[in-house]
Amino acid sequence: MATKYLFFTGGVVSSVGKGVTAAALGLTLKERGFKVAVQKLDPYINVDPGTMSPYQHGEVYVLDDGAETDLDLGHYERFIDIRLSRVSNFTAGQVYAEIIQKERHGDYLGGTIQVIPHITNEIKRRVGLVAKTTEADVVLVEVGGTVGDIESQPFLEALRQIRNEVGRENVFFIHVTWLPYIGATKELKTKPTQHSVAALRSIGISPNMIIARSDYPVTGDICDKIALFCDVEKEAVVPMLTCDVLYEVPLLIEKAGVPDYIIEKLGIKSTRKPEMKPWQKLVDNVRKPKPTVKIALVGKYVELQDAYMSVREAVKHAALSQGVEAEICWVHSADLEKDKGWDIVQGADGIIIPGGFGSRGIEGKIMAARYAREKKIPYLGLCLGMQLMCIEFARGVLELEDANSTEFDHGTESPVIDLMNDQRSITDLGGTMRLGLYPCVLQPDTKASAVYGLERVDERHRHRFEFNNAYKSQFEQAGMIFSGLSPDGRLVEIAELRDHPYMVASQFHPEFLSRPMKPHPLFVGLLKAAKVRGNQ
Ligand code: GLN
Repeated sequence: MATKYLFFTGGVVSSVGKGVTAAALGLTLKERGFKVAVQKLDPYINVDPGTMSPYQHGEVYVLDDGAETDLDLGHYERFIDIRLSRVSNFTAGQVYAEIIQKERHGDYLGGTIQVIPHITNEIKRRVGLVAKTTEADVVLVEVGGTVGDIESQPFLEALRQIRNEVGRENVFFIHVTWLPYIGATKELKTKPTQHSVAALRSIGISPNMIIARSDYPVTGDICDKIALFCDVEKEAVVPMLTCDVLYEVPLLIEKAGVPDYIIEKLGIKSTRKPEMKPWQKLVDNVRKPKPTVKIALVGKYVELQDAYMSVREAVKHAALSQGVEAEICWVHSADLEKDKGWDIVQGADGIIIPGGFGSRGIEGKIMAARYAREKKIPYLGLCLGMQLMCIEFARGVLELEDANSTEFDHGTESPVIDLMNDQRSITDLGGTMRLGLYPCVLQPDTKASAVYGLERVDERHRHRFEFNNAYKSQFEQAGMIFSGLSPDGRLVEIAELRDHPYMVASQFHPEFLSRPMKPHPLFVGLLKAAKVRGNQ
């Protein structure tokens, strides 16, 4: 069977859930027995989001192979339950960097390098790479941004060319748009959708399906209008109402007949019936009233919750497994330094300190870690959250008042967290951290080994600094247990407190491997302990 391609474009505005739609559709196709692959194309010039501010871009999602990618890849992995690789995300920056490097190398023999064909060819090559490396039956490709953006033009042109090269019968374009609601007249408007489709058609692409996102119910006549003006079959206009439970989207897509319509048009047959009952059960469970457990997330980018997307999802997955509703209370760590926000921390049944970089708000996070240790509040530290737990312990228990990470204080006398040796000579910021999957050996009879129930795990990393082993025995004597180590024993991967219900922290990012139906053990451990505390 020829590889089939589903291309997702966005119209009207961004953030309408194109990524979730692609992820959900990917799941329904996987459920039909197809091998699916997913790819996100980001038309911005940055080489990857690794160096971008989470305020602008949201979370950086890390893959097994260490690729620093767009947060949509998190949706793909969580919904479809697959492990993606570097080929599943690329940016205009990567494409240009490659072409310019070849040009400097003289590979073009004096030719003029142009957007068409050089840039578009490289885009096509990279899209083709996914099909080649994964041998997928269906490749879902999402183009970031909105149709009409100058920077997305070469990407759309490349997709148009692919359609001609692999044959129209093997390509299906899905345009995801937004229907604005006019309060004064109480009506949904289709005009922006019409305009975005007109923009698509002006570059030679006619969508095969329009998914119309809306905050208000979409009536049949609205769909008729979209079908008529946008030249799409009526059955291919799919209204998609905003829903409060993210994991319901696959069910809504299934109910709307989207996967069946698409596979019929692509001329492929499913090998099995989709089994969506577990998802229905999951959504029913989410909706069921449950006792609430409060989790304070003490972070730096709390204004933009997308910055902690995977952490938030991992908390929800674990909460669901424990039959509780997790209320995530966002705390700005810099506020704690100014004596604000403490009521939230004090009212929490559990505290999470997520990953982060740079010194702003660090002392506030250390204060929160101290509070968790002293008041025995369940605590989960993620990467930076482990480093700060160690700094707090050094200051508060070992009385090394100056203890710090050399990331925040170069001259500290007690560098309990220090730059990893192989990071010392690195000057470039992009893609140079310790990234991706590394093994971690769990020490027996620890909380970590108990929650995992395993001896060895592989987890995803993204850091430059590490626990300084010069302090190891001092920490151990005072009640810190290093319950996860790299196989050579040289790198602390998990630390936990002996005399505490659950103060566990990892140098890696467990949140990237949590799935709705396979919650991550470290988060489950936190939620279990928080539930016990909440019942007190
Ligand atoms: N800034 C710390 C480091 O580089 C922590 C990184 C993180 O939390 N992802 O080691």
